[in-house]
Amino acid sequence: MMKINETRFKSRMEQINSIAVTEDDGMMRLALSDADKAARDLLTGWMEEAGMTVKIDDMGTIYGTLKGSDENAKPICVGSHMDTQPNGGRYDGLFGVMAGLEAIVSISESGADVKSDLILADWTNEEGARFVPPMLASGVVAGQFEAQWVYDKQDVDGIRYEDELIRHGYKGDEANRLTDAKAYLEPHIEQGPVLDAQGKNCGIVTGALGITGLDVTVRGEANHAGTTPMSHRKDPMTAAAEAIVKIQKNCIDFGEPAVLTNGIIHAEPASKNIVPGEVYFSIDLRYHTDEGMAELERQTISIIEETCAAHGVEVDISQYWKARPATFHEAVVGCVEEAAEENGLDAMRMISGAGHDAVFINDIIPTGMIFVPSIKGMSHCPQEDTKEEDLVKGVEMTADVLLKLDALDI
Ligand SMILES: [Zn+2]
Repeated sequence: MMKINETRFKSRMEQINSIAVTEDDGMMRLALSDADKAARDLLTGWMEEAGMTVKIDDMGTIYGTLKGSDENAKPICVGSHMDTQPNGGRYDGLFGVMAGLEAIVSISESGADVKSDLILADWTNEEGARFVPPMLASGVVAGQFEAQWVYDKQDVDGIRYEDELIRHGYKGDEANRLTDAKAYLEPHIEQGPVLDAQGKNCGIVTGALGITGLDVTVRGEANHAGTTPMSHRKDPMTAAAEAIVKIQKNCIDFGEPAVLTNGIIHAEPASKNIVPGEVYFSIDLRYHTDEGMAELERQTISIIEETCAAHGVEVDISQYWKARPATFHEAVVGCVEEAAEENGLDAMRMISGAGHDAVFINDIIPTGMIFVPSIKGMSHCPQEDTKEEDLVKGVEMTADVLLKLDALDI
């Protein structure tokens, strides 16, 4: 088992987490904000201090490379993201980057013979909080998105992704993108309650739920709330409300791990005494297999269409986002499982409900993830927390898995 420098790991995490703290002790490190730039500068400084070569790709992804002993060995990459949600938590994303850094630095200091180059990656805009959708940099690297499409993404103030990259000096070269590696490993907090509730201290992640995002617009007829009898209305609100109840019920009947969320609903013209003319609502749908996902999508859409038809209103459904379910590479998952066993951890195999850069990178590189528990499953909020001992075990695991990957023949 690799011995890590616990004090250094905690102090570095603390330094980044003290950059932009909100009133209620949350983090405000939106992608490519001044706070993110400050965190990036600290990270690249630590990389250089550890003798790593720092490179930036055209999406702003930071890669720090520690040279391996075998010129012919493919590199091994570990990483996550440092951006946060607005008023987000201390560990979502940052833990993976800091665990990767501490693991690589400890391996280097131990003098262990590592054949592969070890690369630490910090992906830009994983959260999708400032620039929508999430996982933009890893999406470009994995061939999901076009670079120009990402460059033109604007935040709520109309500021472009590319302009922020340039302003902060983090627009690098396409040639620096991670294109080929032996494996990619992402340590992350679970962000859900499963490990904590079952008293486990490590998650061996076997894959991630696919995500389909739908925009639904229901159109009826705006009219007077007093003079329009109920029988004469074309009310998109009642149709939307009924459709939402039905698709939620259908998702429950579909069975776990299916989840469906209606996070946004709004009406036009949004007046208390007007039957609305138009109602918009969002759908976030998740499942772990391609076939199941397609079937759940089909059922959801047909329920909405039938309900709207019964109410005599029109409906438009469009997809704004899609990430296919991911099944991680068995050899990488196996290394995580072995390391957990050797470290005497109480671990379990599990599927990630959240999207991660690992989901996209899995398309081009054999990938795996390590989860550490989230207390009460809280995430994307200031209450997000993980026991210190679990964080430290997560770093030790990361170092051990990197060494196992180095020894692995895949
Ligand atoms: Zn994250």
